[in-house]
This record gives sequence, structure tokens and C-alpha cells, in this order.
Amino acid sequence: MSTCPICNTPKLEENSTCITCGFDLSPYPLSLGIPQDYIKLEQIKLQWAKELWCKFQEKEDQQKQIAELLKGQTKLNEMVMAKLQTVQDVGQMQQELENKQAQIRNLQEKNEAIQAENLKLQGEITTLQAAIKSEEEQQTTSSVPTPSKYTKLETLLNAQNFREADEETRSVMLAVANRQIYLRVEDAENFPCEELRTIDNLWLKYSQGKFGISVQQEIYKNLGGTKQYNRKVWESFGDEIGWRSGGSWLNYNELNFSISAPTGQLPMNNGISAPTGQLPMCMELGAQEKTCEPHLPPSLLSRHALLPSCQDM
Ligand SMILES: [Zn+2]
Repeated sequence: MSTCPICNTPKLEENSTCITCGFDLSPYPLSLGIPQDYIKLEQIKLQWAKELWCKFQEKEDQQKQIAELLKGQTKLNEMVMAKLQTVQDVGQMQQELENKQAQIRNLQEKNEAIQAENLKLQGEITTLQAAIKSEEEQQTTSSVPTPSKYTKLETLLNAQNFREADEETRSVMLAVANRQIYLRVEDAENFPCEELRTIDNLWLKYSQGKFGISVQQEIYKNLGGTKQYNRKVWESFGDEIGWRSGGSWLNYNELNFSISAPTGQLPMNNGISAPTGQLPMCMELGAQEKTCEPHLPPSLLSRHALLPSCQDM
């Protein structure tokens, strides 16, 4: 089988041109007498065409390779783009992270400020509490100057002269109530709260808390005493504070007027009259609660349960 002289493609019988390079393959007519020189010339032309074809093939191969390279380049570009996107995403995420961190720092600063404010407020609260406490203490230790009508009572108490102080208590209470000999129930009920408190505080102060109307009321209350007279409770009260001994009430002269007397024994001579001896002071003075309350700060109310105490008895 003959082949194309240019590209070596096998020649098909029915084709007069090469199916690959298109070279004219039709044979020279044998009747034609072909001169030697002409054949030589034809062979040179064939050689030239063959070389041209080879070069063309090379170019085509190169173009194919270039196309492949371009394809690879495109792929690479896509990968680079993808990487760039990733880098951008990472950058964005970093930005977001930084934003979040800034927010956290901001919140932390606010938190610190709040804590500092808290500490400051706690300090102020502590200071205020201390101030309130010191004020309370000052009030209970009677930094408030005692009115002059109590000068004598204070002098006697300071000298631990409890008997004369007890008698002076009676005088001063009668004077406050504008009465001559004794206090009626209504006088006791209307007895000014501040005066009562002053008297009680003086007794408390000079007896180191042993004597005082509030001390008596506390004892009376603990025994179950109420505003209603109850003989049993009243006698127990008398036993407890030393107004009774051996089952009977003592005379005034029989009382112990020293600091070693039973707690709550004094003052006794409060000016309240009663046909059967002493009325419990708190029974009468307890009615003071309504008027006392506005004058006494809550701390004093609780400390001197006495002054307002009897109402809830
Ligand atoms: Zn060919």
C-alpha cells in the first residue's frame, strides 16, 4: 500500500487527495513521457512540502502544549483566587475577632468601673453606718444637754445617792405633770415622752443600766405583764425587782438604795398613786407609745423597749 509522500498517511484507493494534509495524490498518466529533470524537480518540491508539513505539525503541537499550559494557568488562577478568598475570609474573621475583643475589653472596663463604684458605695455605707452608730451612742450617753430642771436629779444620781434621787424623781415628775401630790392615770398617760426618756436615761447612765423605768418595763414584760392588772404577775414583778420579800410588799424604808439592789428596783417613787400600793409604771406609761414614737428614732425604740413598750403587752 502506498502512502502520502508528505505526511505518510496511508492512501485510500477512492481518494485522490490525502485525508490528512490534502496533498494531491493523483498519479501521473503513464502515457506521459516524464523527463528525468522534471522528476528531480518534483522530488525537490516534495521534499520542501514534506518539511513544511513537519514544521506545521511542530507548530500545532506547540499550540496544543500552549493550550494545555493556558488551561493549567487558568486552573492555577482559580486556585489562587480561592486562596485569596480564604485569605480574605480569614482577614474578615480576624477583624471580627478584634471587634469582639474590643467589645470584651470595653465591657471589662465598664465592669471595673461598676466594681469601683460599688466599693465606693460600700465605703460610704460603712461610713454612714458608723456615723449612725456613733450618733446613737451619743444619744444614749446623753450628749444632749440635760435640761436644768434635772440638774439636781443628775447630781444625786452621780453621787450614787439613790434614795434622794428617787424622791427627786417623784418631785420632778409631779412638776412636769403640773401636779401637787400624785399623778392620776390620765397624768401618767399624757406624761411627755421626752421628759420620761430624760429621766430614764439619767437613771440608766448613773446605774450602768441597772436602774430605770425601761429596765422595769423589760422585766415586767418578760413576766408576761400587760396593761391589764394581773395580781400574780404584779407580785412576781415585785419579787423580781425587790419591792417584795418573803411574800409581802416592803415599806419604802426597807428598800435597798445602793447599787447592789436587785436590778430594776429603782426608781420606785414615781408619783403614781394607787390604793393597793404601786401600779406598774408601764401599765400607765405604756400609753405613751403613740406620742413617744415620733420623738424616738427606731434604734432607741428598740433599745428602750420600755418607753413605748406597754401597748403590745
Ligand atoms: Zn498527506
